[in-house]
Parts: sequence; C-alpha cells; structure tokens
Amino acid sequence: MAGRHSKRSDVDVGIARQRGVRRLGVIDARTRVEHLVSEQSAAAHRHTGCYVAQCGAMVLAASLTEPGRGPCAECVG
Ligand SMILES: [Zn+2]
Repeated sequence: MAGRHSKRSDVDVGIARQRGVRRLGVIDARTRVEHLVSEQSAAAHRHTGCYVAQCGAMVLAASLTEPGRGPCAECVG
C-alpha cells in the first residue's frame, strides 16, 4: 500500500515538472509551420534567429506578423 502511494506521488511531481517547462510557438519562415521551442532553447539561440524545435527541426523564425499555416503535429503530439 505504501508503495502505491509513493508511486502516485512520483507521477504528480512529473506532471508539475512538465508544466514548468514553457514553450514558445515559433513559425518557420520556410514552411510557415508553427513549431514549439522550449524557452531555454529560445533564449540560447535568440541571437541566431534559428531554433531547434521539440520535433528536432531547425526553425528559422519568421517575422511576428507572418501568418502561420498551423502547428507542427510532431511538436504538439
Ligand atoms: Zn515541430
């Protein structure tokens, strides 16, 4: 019984951790697909304008006024 309880606690911590990771939507200038980039990655690559998305794709940030075609299925999923 004690084991079950501690396992549930681990799951709760995991969910809380995931919520702590903030992601930014970055529209790729070439494909206009909106990829998700972690805040950490965005900060690290801001000066290059090129980011590594959740799905592993290199994203060349489009201008903020650029209309996106939609979110990347791999990043969202
Ligand atoms: Zn993506």
